[in-house]
Amino acid sequence: MNVILSTGKSIPLEMHKVRIIQKTTLPPLVQRKKAIAEAGYNTFLLRTNDVFLDMLTDSGTNAMSDNQLSAMMIADDAYAGSESFYRLSETVKEVFGLSYAMPVHQGRAAEHLLAKAFVKPGTIVLMNYHFTTSRAHVELAGGKVIEIFHDDALQTRSDNPFKGNLDLSKFQEAIDTHGAENIAYVRMEATTNLIGGQPFSLGNLRAVKQLAEKYSIPVVFDGSLIAENAYFIKTREKEYAEKSIHEIILEMMQLVDILYLSARKCAGARGGLIATNHKNLYDQLLPWLPVYEGFATYGGMSTKEIEAMRVGLTEMLNIDVASSAVDFVRYFVEKLEESGVPVVTPAGGLACHIDAQRFLPHLPQSAYPAGALAAAFYLVSGIRGMERGTISTDRDADGKEIFADLELLRLALPRRVYTMSHVEYAVDRLSWLHKHRKLIGGLRFVEEPPVLRFFFGKLQPDNGWEDKLYQAYLKDFGAI
Ligand SMILES: *Cc1c(COP(=O)(O)O)cnc(C)c1O
Repeated sequence: MNVILSTGKSIPLEMHKVRIIQKTTLPPLVQRKKAIAEAGYNTFLLRTNDVFLDMLTDSGTNAMSDNQLSAMMIADDAYAGSESFYRLSETVKEVFGLSYAMPVHQGRAAEHLLAKAFVKPGTIVLMNYHFTTSRAHVELAGGKVIEIFHDDALQTRSDNPFKGNLDLSKFQEAIDTHGAENIAYVRMEATTNLIGGQPFSLGNLRAVKQLAEKYSIPVVFDGSLIAENAYFIKTREKEYAEKSIHEIILEMMQLVDILYLSARKCAGARGGLIATNHKNLYDQLLPWLPVYEGFATYGGMSTKEIEAMRVGLTEMLNIDVASSAVDFVRYFVEKLEESGVPVVTPAGGLACHIDAQRFLPHLPQSAYPAGALAAAFYLVSGIRGMERGTISTDRDADGKEIFADLELLRLALPRRVYTMSHVEYAVDRLSWLHKHRKLIGGLRFVEEPPVLRFFFGKLQPDNGWEDKLYQAYLKDFGAI
């Protein structure tokens, strides 16, 4: 929730009390320098003992509530017929209005099953934008992903409130070019992750559904960040200002054929979900569930996590929960803009995204500006972010570099984990780094895995720039 202070400024308030805490430490500068070198300047390879604030991702790192923890105590452990599953199904019916629910072990498991059941070799999946795992599963099943996003989606500086909208004329064009019968489904991703957590509007979803229905193309909805998208609709789409998060979610669900989600994001539990009202679609998915995940009533999840997911899905309908990350991200983004740090605007729903190409204009994409910025920011703050740029894009089949659409440093805010002073600290160190940006040089690979190289790849700074940055920091702040 935002409140207006007597100075006229608005700040987000934490609408929860911290009753259980986990200790974190700020490792001294010299330890950070050693740790990032040992990690091959790849933040994925840092150990959490060397990390002060972990803003790598919001996946599986959100805080759980007292009600979620207590629900875990009543989990009904059974291979088949668990009461925990029936309680989950009731919740899915209430929260989404969907009758058939399938637990799966995480979001990508849902993508795997959907691709297995509906993507045939040579078919096409249309998307408002891809997510790494959603594209991988379609391609592994022999399908092809075509992204039909709005032109503004890739503009890092924009005032378009719905950069996640699907472009309807490109949708019609794809149908005309490829034939509706070759389109397996159209996938709409809420709070579109890889373009900076940008939402689509309900008006756009309705238009997508109308066109899809005309050609009998199923609409698949990736709801990993559904509550945030609903909150954006409430605050940015006029006719929904008076609607509750729940009413908006129910209206969205009337426009989709299949919902799936990563509960690691929206429900603060380690699991995932597929849900639909179409018995025939459910029946096509069901046989694969025990093959890859587990029996229909646990789907590879622990029943404790099913209970936590159930409660988490109900809690996200509360506006204080749906807005918690969004309001903090907006505050984070506004503060950075005031300091002249180039960020993706409008502020998105899961993380603050720094535009590394505008931050480091002296570095070409071949020097991996987003990766260099992630390493430099860790060195000067102890905060771990994630590179989302060319390092996260593998080479083509001939070994040629594919330059990413965007070079971003993503700083995720796990829900209800960090506080205002943590955000202020991050803003300060980023502003300092921006003033010293000329000290940051490029990176080059010393160990480069052939697939998903961003996970395990090791790199080396060009001309030892990290030493100069270390010295500049030491001079201004001392050893901490
Ligand atoms: C994280 C995520 C997934 C994959 O979910 P996992 O639980 O990490 O497997 C899919 N789609 C979106 C939009 C996500 O953010």
